[in-house]
Amino acid sequence: MSHVIPAPRQAVAPVEGGGDFPVHRIYCVGRNYAEHAQEMGFTGREPPFFFLKPADAVLPVAEGSIGEMDYPPQTQNLHHEVELVVAIGVGGRDIAAADAARHIWGYAIGLDMTRRDLQNDMKKQGRPWCIGKAFDQSAPIGPLHPIASTGELTRGAITLSVNGTPRQKGDLSELIWNVSETIETLSKAWTLQPGDLIFTGTPAGVAAVVRGDVMEGSIAGLGTLRVRVR
Ligand code: MN
Repeated sequence: MSHVIPAPRQAVAPVEGGGDFPVHRIYCVGRNYAEHAQEMGFTGREPPFFFLKPADAVLPVAEGSIGEMDYPPQTQNLHHEVELVVAIGVGGRDIAAADAARHIWGYAIGLDMTRRDLQNDMKKQGRPWCIGKAFDQSAPIGPLHPIASTGELTRGAITLSVNGTPRQKGDLSELIWNVSETIETLSKAWTLQPGDLIFTGTPAGVAAVVRGDVMEGSIAGLGTLRVRVR
C-alpha cells in the first residue's frame, strides 16, 4: 500500500557523538519529586501517574548549540520543568524493576515545558491536560548519552537556571519513583517500544519564562541543555 499523503517526518532526538534516536512516544511522570509535588499542592506520597506528549513535540538541541523555542500561543504562564529523560532501546511489557536497566538505551536532559495557566484551567474542570502539556516544541531535549558510557544514573545534581539565576535544584536520588520503578509501573499499562522517551519528573522551583530568556538545564554526567525562548 502506498501512502495517500506524504508520510509524517520521523521525530528524532540527538545523540552525543552523532546519529539520531527515532522517537516513538513521550511518556511523562507527574509530581515525582516530593518538594515539587508539595509546591503543586500535593503530599508527595501519591502513586505515580503518567501523561503523554506527541513524539513531534521534541525540539532537538544538538551538542553545544542553543535551542530556539517559540513562545507558544494562548498562554501567559509558560513554565520550565527540567527532567531526566530515559530513552528505551529494548521494548517490553510487565518489565520488573530489577530488569529495567537492560531496556534503557540512554539518558538526556529534557524540558517538560508547560502552559501552566491552561493546565490549571483544565485541572479545575477535571479535563485532560493536553493543551497545557502536549503543544508544539513542548519537549526540548539535548543529546542522548548511551547507558553503555554513563552507567545507570541513580544520583547526581539536576538543576535549571534562567539567564544565569538558579531556579530549580534537586538530585536524581530524590525521585519518589526511581527510573526502574517507573519503567515497571509504566510497562504494566503500555507495551514499551524502542524509541519511547520517559520524562521522569521535575524537582521543585518551576516558574515562568518570557521571550528572550535563556534556560540552562544540567544533570551530572549529561552536560548542559541551553534553550532560548523567542
Ligand atoms: Mn514534568
